[in-house]
Amino acid sequence: MKTLLPTSTAGSLPKPAWLAQPEALWSPWKLQGEELVDGKHDALRVSLQEQQQAGIDIVSDGEQTRQHFVTTFIEHLSGVDFENRKTVKIRNRYEASVPTVVAAVARPKPVFVDDARFLRKQTKQPIKWALPGPMTMIDTLYDDHYKSREKLAWEFAKLLNQEAKDLEAAGVDIIQFDEPAFNVFFDEVNEWGVACLERAIEGLKCETAVHICYGYGIKANTDWKKTLGSEWRQYETVFPKLQKSNIDIISLECHGSRVPVELLELIRGKKVMVGAIDVATNTIETPEEVASTLREALKFVDADKLYPCTNCGMAPLSRVVARKKLSALNAGAQIVRKELLA
Ligand SMILES: [Zn+2]
Repeated sequence: MKTLLPTSTAGSLPKPAWLAQPEALWSPWKLQGEELVDGKHDALRVSLQEQQQAGIDIVSDGEQTRQHFVTTFIEHLSGVDFENRKTVKIRNRYEASVPTVVAAVARPKPVFVDDARFLRKQTKQPIKWALPGPMTMIDTLYDDHYKSREKLAWEFAKLLNQEAKDLEAAGVDIIQFDEPAFNVFFDEVNEWGVACLERAIEGLKCETAVHICYGYGIKANTDWKKTLGSEWRQYETVFPKLQKSNIDIISLECHGSRVPVELLELIRGKKVMVGAIDVATNTIETPEEVASTLREALKFVDADKLYPCTNCGMAPLSRVVARKKLSALNAGAQIVRKELLA
């Protein structure tokens, strides 16, 4: 990456209203069959163009072809019954109706690889592709087969590794694993969570990232955040293990959150995607606010390892708010770039 402070987004971006109900999660598709296939591709093109116009350096599909960042991947696996649903508590926070693992899981064919190829054809910019992490996947399911969170996570890690290798072959530059569950199940992260993640990236030559956040700006998450006290020190328990792992990049939440920025010291040496845009508010950050978050992070992250980013995905926001936030991210990064080069 030659650009200093290359900007990117954590993942999802809002979908056009003709494709899915805006400002909602798990929003059902409005099109069907061939129209849906075309509609998803058109939305991907629009999302890419919006990132480019905002000056984003590492672009993505904006997750336009998936309904949900975890379940869409799971839907393509065998061994999971989507008719047989159970209500579980996701990340100890909110209840959701989820599918059941009824047999050994397998990936009969690639899931996102055609979409990644499609994105690759649209741009010469570096592209990042997000997959759910093994621990977040097991937390979004009811397991009636393995009866062991750890066993199921290792199985998913194998399938994720197959998908990641195919994405790499399709020309993806950075493969990111979304692991919000790392912020909740600290003992498991240290016992086997990071190890499973390393299984998922085994043999990859492209760059790899893990995204750990405090979630979308939905009520269940904002209520949870109120219980976390004046300092959010969750990262403290998982960063030491991640610092020693083979993961190249750590994507985390900074701006507008109560994460003490000095926790970045614990991952010294890693590349860091610093969340400088709050996704839990419609208030647009000023470029100076973004710059100030980046300057703070620069005390703990070398300039050539700092990647300005959003705190999390922006799917539940309106398109206009998301566009303005992307532009603010770019403008803030520009300010700090100039300072670094002065
Ligand atoms: Zn996130």
